[in-house]
Amino acid sequence: MDDPQTSAYQPVIGLEIHVQLSTRSKVFATEAFAFGGEPNTYVSPISLAHPGALPSLNQACIEQVVKLGLATHCQIDRQGYFARKNYFYPDLPKGYQLSQDQRPICYEGQVEVLQSDGSLKRVSLERIHLEEDAGKSIHDLDPEESLIDLNRAGTGLAEVVTRPDLRSAEEAGALLAEMRRLVRYIGVSDANMEQGNLRCDANVSIMPVGAEAYGTRVEIKNLNSITHLMRAIEHEIARQVRTVESGGTIVQETRTWDPVSQQTLPMRGKEMAADYRYFPEPDLLPLDLSEDLLHDLAASLPELPQARFQRYVAAGIPVNESFTLIEQRAFSDYFEALQRQSGDPKTAANWLLGPVRTYLNAEGIEIADFPVPPQAIAALMALVEEGQVSLPAAREQVFPALIAAPETAPQALAQRLEVMMESQAGELASAMAALMAAHPDEVARFRAGKKQLHGFFVGQLMRQFRGKADPKEVNEVVRQKLTAS
Ligand code: ADP
Ligand code: MG
Repeated sequence: MDDPQTSAYQPVIGLEIHVQLSTRSKVFATEAFAFGGEPNTYVSPISLAHPGALPSLNQACIEQVVKLGLATHCQIDRQGYFARKNYFYPDLPKGYQLSQDQRPICYEGQVEVLQSDGSLKRVSLERIHLEEDAGKSIHDLDPEESLIDLNRAGTGLAEVVTRPDLRSAEEAGALLAEMRRLVRYIGVSDANMEQGNLRCDANVSIMPVGAEAYGTRVEIKNLNSITHLMRAIEHEIARQVRTVESGGTIVQETRTWDPVSQQTLPMRGKEMAADYRYFPEPDLLPLDLSEDLLHDLAASLPELPQARFQRYVAAGIPVNESFTLIEQRAFSDYFEALQRQSGDPKTAANWLLGPVRTYLNAEGIEIADFPVPPQAIAALMALVEEGQVSLPAAREQVFPALIAAPETAPQALAQRLEVMMESQAGELASAMAALMAAHPDEVARFRAGKKQLHGFFVGQLMRQFRGKADPKEVNEVVRQKLTAS
C-alpha cells in the first residue's frame, strides 16, 4: 500500500465477528449441536418452527456471552431481552431470527490488541449480543437444486461489533487473531474458522488523510480466515481509492470476497435496519441476571493471554517468543507448568520453543499429544543446571530417550546413556597444579593483579579435558588454586 494515491487516504475499518458458542445444546432448543453431523439430524420441532413450538433459553449461552463481555471489559446489561429479526430466507425456517436489538447483553467494551511487534492497539467494542444462527444453504452438491441443512439452525452465536477504530488490514487481522485467542482461552468457542465457528464481516471506508468525517462504508460478508480478511480489506481499500480518484463515489453496499479472482464483488444492496421489523420475542421472559451470577462468572475467568504475555516479557523472555508462548492455551499452560517447576522461565522457554517445538512440528502433533510431562523436562533442566549433564547431551541424547520412555527419570536415562559428568575435581586439581608449575610467570602476574589470566588457565584446562569437564567445576578449581597461598 505505498503507492502515493493510496497513501493520500486513511482507511477506516470496523468488524462484526460471529463466535459460535461451544455449548452442548442450541440456544433456544435442547437438541445437541455437533459439527459435521448427517444433514438435518440435529433438529427439533423448535428449530424447524413447527406451529406451537416454544423456545426456552439455554442458560449456558448467556453465561458464555457474559464471560466474553467481562473478558473484554464490557458493561453488562442484566435486564436485556430477545427480539425477533424478521426476514425470509430458505435456511431460516421460522421466518425470523431471535437476536437482541436495543438491549444487547454486553456493551461498551474494549480489547487491547496485541500486535506482532508486541505493542498494543486499543479497539472499542460497541456491543456483544446473543443470537441464533441460521441453517446452511448448499449450492454445490446438486446440479439442479439448492439443498438445506438445518443442523446449524438455532445454535448460539455471540456477535461482537467493534467501533470503526481499525486503520489497516494488519490491525484488523490482529484483532481477529486476538478475539480467536481470547474465546479459546476462556472456553466459549472452538473458534475454528475453517469450520465456521468464527466468522467475520468487515466494514471498510476511506477518507482523505486528516479528515474527520468517515466515508461511506462497504460491508464485506463472511470472511472465513484471517488471511482472507486481510486480503479482502486491502483490495477493498484499493478499489475505493481507484473509484474516488477516477471521480466516482462509493455506494453503501454489501460485497463478498472472491479468493480466486482476489477481489470484492457486489452482493446486494444494504437492507435498511427497519426492514427487519424488530419486536420483542413474546415467548421468552426478559433476562434478569443476578449480581451473584456476574460475580461467579468473573471469578471463573482464567488469566487472560495478554496478562501472561506481559508476565513473560517482564521475566526477560523476548517479545516474539512470548507471543509464540501465549498463542495457544494448551501450549501456554504447558509452559506455565514448566516454568513453575523449574523456577527458570527463560530456560523453560528455550526448551519449549527449541527441542520440544521442533519435535512437535516434525511429528505434526499438538502439545496435548506430547508424551513427556512438564515435570520430566524440568528434571532434565535441573541436571543441566547442576552441571551433571551437558546441554548438548541433554538435548541430543537424553531428550529423545525421554520421549521414547516418558515414565523414566531423566537421571536414570542419562546414566544409561553414559552422559553423566562425573565430578572430576581431583583430576582437575592435579592438572591445574601441573599447569601452574609450567607457567610460573602467569601465576605471578595473576597474583600481582592481572585477573584476566584466570581465563587463560580455564581455557588450558578445558582444552586438556576436551570439553568433557564441567565448566563450572573448572572455574572453581582454577579460582581456588590461584587464590590459595
Ligand atoms: P448498522 O447499524 O447498519 O449495523 P453500525 O453503525 O452499527 O451499522 O456499524 C456496523 C459496523 O460498521 C461496525 O463494526 C462499525 O464499526 C462499522 N462502521 C460504521 N461506520 C463505518 C465507517 N464509516 N467505516 C468503516 N466502518 C464503519
Ligand atoms: Mg449497528
